[in-house]
Amino acid sequence: MRVGLYPGSFDPITNGHVDIIKRSLGLVDKLIVGIGISATKTPVFSFDQRQRMIEAEAGGVAKQKGVALEVIAFDELLVDVARKNGANIILRGLRTAADYEYEAQMTSMNRSMAPEIETVFLPATPDVSFVSSTLVRQILAMGGDISPFVPRSVLEEIK
Ligand code: ADP
Repeated sequence: MRVGLYPGSFDPITNGHVDIIKRSLGLVDKLIVGIGISATKTPVFSFDQRQRMIEAEAGGVAKQKGVALEVIAFDELLVDVARKNGANIILRGLRTAADYEYEAQMTSMNRSMAPEIETVFLPATPDVSFVSSTLVRQILAMGGDISPFVPRSVLEEIK
């Protein structure tokens, strides 16, 4: 059984994340979306909000594809989270060469700690490859319109 773990902050989920999640659903039997919770960083959206938005965007497609979807919170080493949850694949999206540099380094270190877990990179779809949660939060803080970059559930949560 292929169990994928897609980790991130998802603060908030963007069209880029939705794209990666939907494509991941075609690769695994079960997908766990892991929301990283940091003790030092205060998120804009609570864990409950982030979980709700992810489930709203991906729950229907997962069901349609017969893939189990789970959204969890984590605050430990990624390989430990994967092992504890029975995941054998870590999924990551790649936007830029800079993403690759960082991700490749992290992947190598994860592989030496947990050789049984494979990391799979999905290249970003060009029309959403420029979208990032950090920029969405900045636009939101300055009163801009984030609707081109995020799915409907985020706009509803903000309302
Ligand atoms: P971080 O790990 O920096 O907190 P995020 O939570 O924003 O990153 O994203 C989690 C994962 O989603 C990462 O693998 C990141 O590369 C990927 N991702 C983020 N935005 C996009 C996008 N627009 N297209 C494809 N992948 C993306």
